[in-house]
Amino acid sequence: MRLIQIQKKDNVAIPPDTAPGGTVFENGLVALETIPQGHKVALVQLIKGSAVIRYGSVIGYLKKDVRPGQWINEDMLELPGMPDLENMGWGTDINSRLPVPPVKNFCGYDIPGARFAGIRNILGIMPAVHCVNGVLNNAVDRMKKELLPQFPNVDDIVVLNHIYGCGVAINAGEARIWIRSLHNLMRNPNFGGQLMTVALGCEKLTPDMLLDAGENTAENLVVLQECRGYKSMIDSLMNMAESKLAVLDKRRRTELPLSKLCIGMQCGGSDAFSGISANPAAGYASDLLVSGGATVMFYEVTEVRDGVRFIAARCADENTAKKLADEMRWFDNYLEAGGVDRESNTSPGNKEGGLSNIVEKTLGSIAKSGTAPIAEVLSPGEWPSRSGLVFAATPASDIVCGPQQLASGMVLEVFMTGRGTPYGLAAAPVIKVSSRTLMKEMWDDLIDINAGTIIEGKETIEETGQRIFNMIIDTASGKYKPWAERYRLFNDMAVFNPGPIT
Ligand code: CA
Repeated sequence: MRLIQIQKKDNVAIPPDTAPGGTVFENGLVALETIPQGHKVALVQLIKGSAVIRYGSVIGYLKKDVRPGQWINEDMLELPGMPDLENMGWGTDINSRLPVPPVKNFCGYDIPGARFAGIRNILGIMPAVHCVNGVLNNAVDRMKKELLPQFPNVDDIVVLNHIYGCGVAINAGEARIWIRSLHNLMRNPNFGGQLMTVALGCEKLTPDMLLDAGENTAENLVVLQECRGYKSMIDSLMNMAESKLAVLDKRRRTELPLSKLCIGMQCGGSDAFSGISANPAAGYASDLLVSGGATVMFYEVTEVRDGVRFIAARCADENTAKKLADEMRWFDNYLEAGGVDRESNTSPGNKEGGLSNIVEKTLGSIAKSGTAPIAEVLSPGEWPSRSGLVFAATPASDIVCGPQQLASGMVLEVFMTGRGTPYGLAAAPVIKVSSRTLMKEMWDDLIDINAGTIIEGKETIEETGQRIFNMIIDTASGKYKPWAERYRLFNDMAVFNPGPIT
């Protein structure tokens, strides 16, 4: 059996399949016990206290002696200390030789005057407060039955349901995060620049917090307390939707440069293969996109925190590195206030998949950002102001990260998974990439691209990355629909709220 060793100085490797005790690996090593698929086997004799090295980095220290061929599981590892955020330095690892993409255009829905184009043509509706959701959801059922068929160029109607707006401490410092996120979420390019807001009339999140000067008009806002009864509410919502749908229906796809595209990379349900197949392949696709002028965002603070120095080294300027440290520090404090630390990130599935701790998970997770310099770091819900590779601070939770990605302008997500998740978003297509072939075989009609070919030695990281890039362009151009979009597997809009609820 083969063993996958990532860097020469690694003192552990992983088998591509479960290796029963007695298995002789191709390098002559004998498994002293069963090594589960993707789990670490010691390549050399290691004494208690030795550093276990994977990805060329220390992922932990041994709590006991280990012989070559022995299984190293999470219980045997002491977590290394968390990297210091002071004096990180920046710009020492700037890659100026990114691969050139085969195409530099896609066919999207341009929004005149806007930085990014949409890739789907959707009417997005933003409630100012959850109190309106019952009425709004009934109205949307009718819109989908009665109005949507009349406007065949519109893909869908999506309600951006959230549970904030009232019953929250609106003036709390951290409330700015969810307010900014909701404000920007309704401006996602896939909504074509059309704004439709539904308020109750007495909520704390007043419409002027969602609608800017000039936008806060009767054309963009329905206030239920100003309607005479339920029927009038439904009529008002139907009328506004009809006029917005008529505008959206006139739009057509046109050929646009990659600079109009904003793509997001996320991973969830990771395993030990994620960091050597799906994530680096997505990273190569990211490099192609960035080199072609696109904006690519990656996220998930707790999944980069332990590798923050690798990210700082790729920051293009000092301010970007400083903001990186600020965002990490904010999240450290946020976790500490909740009485937890970074180790709370790894899930039982991660561990069963061979990822012993957050350090090992992080090193594999960062691979999805490719090798491009970091042009900008964003606070949660902020919109990028520069093209290129952007780190946007969000929680790693798939269900919270997704809405935050949309709030930062993402129109298409590439999602890497090892354990499998049917996750999807109503407002943007999600391309699912599996880290192992078994995952693709199990979920053939949920996984769009299999990166397990890299583990099997059938494809290089670059070849799989090229396939991911091609699928991004086809999806953005409306030629391909990922499985989650076809089945309409849409998760809730769990916008990040670190502030108090009253
Ligand atoms: Ca995630």
